[in-house]
Amino acid sequence: MGSYNRLKIQINCPQCKKKIDGTLQFRFGDIWFYEYKIGDYIKSNDSSEELLDYLVYCILEDSICPYCQSQLSEEYDMLVEKGRIAHVSLMKDYSIYLKENEGDYIEIRA
Ligand SMILES: [Zn+2]
Repeated sequence: MGSYNRLKIQINCPQCKKKIDGTLQFRFGDIWFYEYKIGDYIKSNDSSEELLDYLVYCILEDSICPYCQSQLSEEYDMLVEKGRIAHVSLMKDYSIYLKENEGDYIEIRA
């Protein structure tokens, strides 16, 4: 994946239900191992990225629950609204990413 940025999130293990501190990797905005949390604004030299909404492909760094060793879901969708990280959810459909931007993210068109 080369360089990437990081997003810190909390995940609920589907097996033991414990809260886990997770780190997602993604490639959007200026890419240089920046660390974000939900609600942060993405650093970007491309000002058009602050005007539009994007769905960004994310992958979980450690996908084994530290408490019960269950396999966790590895792939997530991050919603970026007008430059700000709004929401993260389990990835629904990877095929949407295959169309553009090397699979890293897509622009959401109304
Ligand atoms: Zn667990």
